Amino acid sequence: MVGNLYIIEKARLDDLIRLLREDGCRVVGPTIRDGAIVFDEIASAEQLPRGWTDVQEAGHYRLERRTDDAYFGYVVGPYSCKRYLFPPRQRLFSITRNGRPLSGFDVDVTSASPPRIAFLGVRACDLAALEIQDRVFNAEYADPYYRDVRRSAVLIAVNCSEPGGTCFCSSMQTGPRCTRLFDLALTELPAAFAAEAGTERGRALLERLSPQPADRNVQHLVELMLESAAEHMGRALDTRELPEILLQNPEHPHWNRVAERCLACANCTLSCPTCFCSNVEDSTDLGGSRAERWRSWGSCFTLEFSYHTGGFSRSSVRARYRQWLTHKLAGWHEQFGMSGCVGCGRCITWCPVGIDVTKEATTIADDVRRADVAERGARERSR
Ligand code: SF4
Ligand code: SF4
Repeated sequence: MVGNLYIIEKARLDDLIRLLREDGCRVVGPTIRDGAIVFDEIASAEQLPRGWTDVQEAGHYRLERRTDDAYFGYVVGPYSCKRYLFPPRQRLFSITRNGRPLSGFDVDVTSASPPRIAFLGVRACDLAALEIQDRVFNAEYADPYYRDVRRSAVLIAVNCSEPGGTCFCSSMQTGPRCTRLFDLALTELPAAFAAEAGTERGRALLERLSPQPADRNVQHLVELMLESAAEHMGRALDTRELPEILLQNPEHPHWNRVAERCLACANCTLSCPTCFCSNVEDSTDLGGSRAERWRSWGSCFTLEFSYHTGGFSRSSVRARYRQWLTHKLAGWHEQFGMSGCVGCGRCITWCPVGIDVTKEATTIADDVRRADVAERGARERSR
């Protein structure tokens, strides 16, 4: 059953959520809150954004009614799985004096009882982001909380058939089709879901939903939908030689032009599913009997983040934007063997001034490529 395509009725979506909850999972899925589709804990399919879509452009996000009642007729909201595996603010541990002469204090570690989470509606770009975060939090040095939540997480993915205005996963080879990491991948058709199990756990889940084998027509329809989605991305990014171009052009004038617009608000890093920087703070109570260590999301866009002995290494907004973009699209390759960008478009949508990672990188890259061609031409002519 793993790898084959099946059909499940739309009405079984509620059963899927119920089964996951019966299996002891907190089901985290898309729901509407504060004018956006966000990931949150849900208890039934009624809480899904049925019949809604999101219209996204640079610095623009609006919900609109669809003309049909699709459950997953939107792309991605500001939240991703990151919020649950690497929470925005998290107590790492607390220490309390216990008055006993030898041990002295008790340590309470937060990761001792991680929740079991079933993510419903994860897109291909978010699966790719998870793969990246695995290399940060679950590799040689594992973050215990991340490792435990990730290990028990159930991933119910949904293929994208209608990419949004800021999506460019095709360029980053991360979507729109879910190809790995998922337990179950759904494709929403007008009257049913096409479902594919990616793991034994997904197979067991699918079996409980009375699936019917998908015939050739359904398989063909799914292929057409995903091919069409790949060809209709809202954005594109030519990644050829991009790491070299960005790293070799730290003084390109376009960095200044972006810096004039950038507010250094950090929205891009906070909404990005792959950004992983954090700050750690210790605090004690006034009586000196209890201490806590907290971790919260950090951002390379803040001045303090580049502070080290002797001052700030990135004191200008230009230096901070350049650091972020070159790390995402260039340095990450050296560090993790892959790009730090999965093409989800969140940083473009949620940037209040509409700074667009695809446009800014393309402006620099096209300029450098044009200059290279002109230089080669001049050299040829002078021979
Ligand atoms: S690029 Fe946009 S979202 Fe990011 S810090 Fe600058 S203004 Fe904020
Ligand atoms: S850099 Fe932007 S487009 Fe790329 S993964 Fe992060 S939020 Fe998504």
